[in-house]
Order: sequence, then C-alpha cells, then structure tokens
Amino acid sequence: MTTTQQATPTSTDIRWVCSACGQPAATGAVHIDYRAITDAEQAAKAWDARRHSLNAFDLADVFTMPSRAQWQVTCDGCLQEQHDCGGCYEISLGQVPTFTALLRWQAHLYAKSWFDATNWVAFVHRLAQEHAPNESGAAW
Ligand SMILES: [Zn+2]
Ligand SMILES: [Zn+2]
Repeated sequence: MTTTQQATPTSTDIRWVCSACGQPAATGAVHIDYRAITDAEQAAKAWDARRHSLNAFDLADVFTMPSRAQWQVTCDGCLQEQHDCGGCYEISLGQVPTFTALLRWQAHLYAKSWFDATNWVAFVHRLAQEHAPNESGAAW
C-alpha cells in the first residue's frame, strides 16, 4: 500500500542583486538610511500642510508629492567600499533568503512608525516582478 505524501510547501529563493555594482549578492544587506527616512517624513509633513484640500485629493498635489526614502540592496564588497549611510536600518541578506522570510520581515517592518516614509511597497513589487514577471494573479 502506498500512502500519498503531502507536498511540503516551499518558498521561492530570492536572487538578490546589488544595486551598487549590479552583481548577484550572496551576502550583504537590505538597508535604508535613517537620514533619508527623516527627510522623507519631513517632506511628507510639509507637503500635507500646504496641499490645497485636506479632504479632496487634488491632482496637482499628487505631482508634487515628495518621494519616499529608498531601500537599497548592497553586497558585502560594496558595503565595505562605499557604505555612506548616516546610520541605517539594516537586514542582512542571510536573514531574507526567501520570499517567506521577506514576508515575515514585512510584518515586522509594518509596525515601524516610519514604514510609510519608505518605498518598501514599490521595492517588494519590483522584486516580485523580477522573479515572476508572468505570474497570474498579480494585482498590479
Ligand atoms: Zn555590490
Ligand atoms: Zn546603510
């Protein structure tokens, strides 16, 4: 008699690429500069204060929306040579080998007061697009 083995769910490995040198990054970090976060928070506050209407979303305001702080992927070699963050929030690539691990980190990051000041959503979307450009069920 044969028993049907239940398939063990697996997670997709992330192929990290260094944004500085463009090479695959086996070790390194996903990081974001605290100064960029502070700048983005202040710019968002200023933008909110001067936009035309607090209720309606004016299209003109959308075009002047300040950009968010950018998450970076940097390999160890580049981190040693040109890491110029003025202190950063850093996740070592070894801690995010798969998309499941990335989801766990996202749940953790979401609780940060500064989460919205960063481009995490666009960052993850781009990563997903790079790994599975033709995957069905993509919302956008
Ligand atoms: Zn690099
Ligand atoms: Zn950094």
